[in-house]
Amino acid sequence: MKLLFNSVLSILITFLFYTTLFPQDFQKCGTFSPENLSKMGESCTRPSFSPASSEVQIIQTTNFNIHFITDELPPLNPNDPPSDKTTWAYAEKVASAAQEAWYFQINSLGWQAPPGDGTCGGEFDKYDIYIKRVNFYGATQPELQVTGTNGYTSYIIVTTGLIIGGVHTPLTENEIRVTLAHEFNHAIQFGYNGTKSRESNYWFFENTATWIEEIQYPEIND
Ligand SMILES: [Zn+2]
Repeated sequence: MKLLFNSVLSILITFLFYTTLFPQDFQKCGTFSPENLSKMGESCTRPSFSPASSEVQIIQTTNFNIHFITDELPPLNPNDPPSDKTTWAYAEKVASAAQEAWYFQINSLGWQAPPGDGTCGGEFDKYDIYIKRVNFYGATQPELQVTGTNGYTSYIIVTTGLIIGGVHTPLTENEIRVTLAHEFNHAIQFGYNGTKSRESNYWFFENTATWIEEIQYPEIND
């Protein structure tokens, strides 16, 4: 265990060295945007979907609730009004990627599970993920401080896809997997200490989340 810790630490230090020399494209992750951090500490306020008339669907896995709306008509026409609609198949990929991230980072690496949010986000106390049309791959929103700790509950937003050349392009399965590995790592970080993320050294949180992508999916280069 100690050997594993040392080798993980040396990989982390090497990684931090290189990412400091060659800054990453942080547009992929919206977690530390001023807008996201300004919502921190608010009461349970979850994303709404557009169009609002759509029935919200939920896929439940062992540890997650995946919230989304769908019309089962992919791909979405880029000329249509802005919409959060996605497909069941896409939501299923998000669900299995989320569960993979939990099994790897909690069950295998032994990190602490993010604190439960009670019934915020639905009657089941599972980690909530919302699939929405946003201009980044994903973001983790810290929410409520856990009494007596520096830890925060959180939820994750994953994009339905990005507009590339004017066309709505869903993330590939591999992009979904690394996005969930990255964002779920932020959820774990906020569970340990959400107050640190407001400080200017959030780059450490960001780099650790990017590093975990490589550890969990060494075969995927995004
Ligand atoms: Zn991030």
